[in-house]
Amino acid sequence: MPANAQNKATRHSGRATAPPTRANAKPENSTHADVYALLSRLEKVKENGPGRWLACCPAHQDRSPSLAVRETPDGTILVKCFAGCPTPDVLAAVGLELKDLFPQRGRDDYHASKRPGERWVPRDVLSAIAQEALITLIAAEATHRGDRLERVDLDRLVTAAGRLRSAAREVGCHV
Ligand SMILES: [Zn+2]
Repeated sequence: MPANAQNKATRHSGRATAPPTRANAKPENSTHADVYALLSRLEKVKENGPGRWLACCPAHQDRSPSLAVRETPDGTILVKCFAGCPTPDVLAAVGLELKDLFPQRGRDDYHASKRPGERWVPRDVLSAIAQEALITLIAAEATHRGDRLERVDLDRLVTAAGRLRSAAREVGCHV
């Protein structure tokens, strides 16, 4: 991302809960996506609740903050522009990608400590996969009918993709 964007973000980050320097200190084995990597690139960032922020959307001319950022308990970041910018566009405007919204969890743990035969698939993981697959199916059916998916639905699909990736990583698959 451009250096001047970083500087602006630093000047305007105001009440963000952590200094922007954390943006460059993403830990290798973090169990959460690095929300500060995103927040430090945005302007007029304000925390408006635990794990919730508002900021100016970088993908459109945004004078009053209309971009909501939320960190879920499972470590996924949700991004929503109330003016309707697609999330990939919002991220691209600050040099990030969709995959940056998802936890990078447990990569080395599984390689270091478990052989394939020692991995196990908890019932909870299978149950979660079934649930996320169902949500994806519902969205696909709605699209097939010609219904327009709302932003909240798209954000939910992003969450579903993140959970499926996390589930795959639980058994050592890197997707
Ligand atoms: Zn926008």
